[in-house]
Amino acid sequence: MKKKTQTKILKRAIAHFGEEKQLKKAAEEAAELIQAILKYEPENEATADHLCEEMADMEIMLSQLNRITGLRGLVEFHKEKKLARLVETMNKNDTARIAASMPTIVEVNKIIKNKKPCPKKP
Ligand SMILES: [Mg+2]
Repeated sequence: MKKKTQTKILKRAIAHFGEEKQLKKAAEEAAELIQAILKYEPENEATADHLCEEMADMEIMLSQLNRITGLRGLVEFHKEKKLARLVETMNKNDTARIAASMPTIVEVNKIIKNKKPCPKKP
């Protein structure tokens, strides 16, 4: 379906049901999505299909929320901030993992101290 057609349908839904009802509907759909995520089993086609259906419902309601509130720009601002924080967290985790896998200076000194000297060539 074309983006223009989708936009027309979203506008019509908001006008038809009203903003207040659509806000409640968004909350209901969020609850349904939570349930579908909790029941999702990758090998179970029925749970996968149900999850996709609820994700579609949520995307539709998020589009309506953006229209109703007019806060799309602020959503993008927070999204960028949160993505930057996510990268920061992953970078810290990677650094900590690398640091944890490396021997400490005390361990390195022990290794050096216990290392047998190379045999001298005759
Ligand atoms: Mg639903």
